[in-house]
Amino acid sequence: MTMIHKYQTHWKNKMKQSQVKLLLSLDYELFFGNKSGSVEHCLLRPTRYLLNVVNRYNVKISLFVDAGFLIKLKQYSADFPLLAEQYAAIKKQLQSLSQQGHDIQLHIHPHWQDSYYSSKGWVINSKRYRLHDFCRQEQNEIVTSYKQELESCSEQKIFAFRAGGWCLQPFEDIRQSLENNNIWLDSTLFAEGRCDDPSRWFNFKDMPDKAWWNFKNDPLTEQLDGYFTELPISAVKTSPLFFWKLAFHKQFSSSKFSAFGDGQAIIHDKSYYIQRLSRTTCGPVSLDGSKAGQLDKALKEHKNKADPHAVFNVMGHPKSLTPYSLEKLNTFLQEHHELSSITYQDLHHLRNTAGKN
Ligand SMILES: [Zn+2]
Repeated sequence: MTMIHKYQTHWKNKMKQSQVKLLLSLDYELFFGNKSGSVEHCLLRPTRYLLNVVNRYNVKISLFVDAGFLIKLKQYSADFPLLAEQYAAIKKQLQSLSQQGHDIQLHIHPHWQDSYYSSKGWVINSKRYRLHDFCRQEQNEIVTSYKQELESCSEQKIFAFRAGGWCLQPFEDIRQSLENNNIWLDSTLFAEGRCDDPSRWFNFKDMPDKAWWNFKNDPLTEQLDGYFTELPISAVKTSPLFFWKLAFHKQFSSSKFSAFGDGQAIIHDKSYYIQRLSRTTCGPVSLDGSKAGQLDKALKEHKNKADPHAVFNVMGHPKSLTPYSLEKLNTFLQEHHELSSITYQDLHHLRNTAGKN
């Protein structure tokens, strides 16, 4: 048996033993629109609130940390005491999370390379939005330095990746920089995922209908001996009615529905909204705002799937959490004792154990 087959069999046996595996994977980042928002309201505070909820159930979270931002904060720390304070506060939060068994992993928004701080705040230049917009050498430097930065925030290994803005393709253009840095697990894909915006495009339409798979050059094509493993985010179908309600809440929202984050997201082109308001779409299962209202429905769909080894991988962003979404998460965890919490670290241990057998 090859090592990779041992690994797969081992994982499958492990998964069979138990209930549904729950992975909460959140992207820890500011906003990238006109107003980036504050560290306290987009990162520190909502993460504390989230911890208050998950700690009650001994559920662990995995944070994909926007490491480019941390590096920028560090660079400006000497000149701006405020940024030095923010840098220290974020590091303290992440280190404490790691000590408690939560997981820190790599999220890359490379446009931090071209962005700067002025006395008025962050000036975000997102012309080079994808890692692919940088040459190979730059890509490699980005991945190496971002990973190093996160290693100083975590007690555990950094090996999992989620591409900023889902911009993972064409994967072969960035493959080498990830492999050079021993990043072997990707958790960016979700079923039916697609965006047609030329600078932000992604297309996951043809992804394998499996719990997870190995791949080499293309995450949409399974290759048993591939270096990389894809662990997709779970997806859920959403009716237009849901988005109409969402739009309604946003328009007339009480504070229960307004996000903790105080920034402004990049505005999508019109087709994005029209599509969602007019036909059933498929999106990632998420803790963000009103989307958390779909957790039950998504879990039901997840359980009905043929593959019992799948991980119920729920994403989110601390900045987009709301009092409503945390309330929903709390009820969800309270009602579903069959869920057992894992982080990406558990997958790392499995890969290691399998290799040693
Ligand atoms: Zn992101």
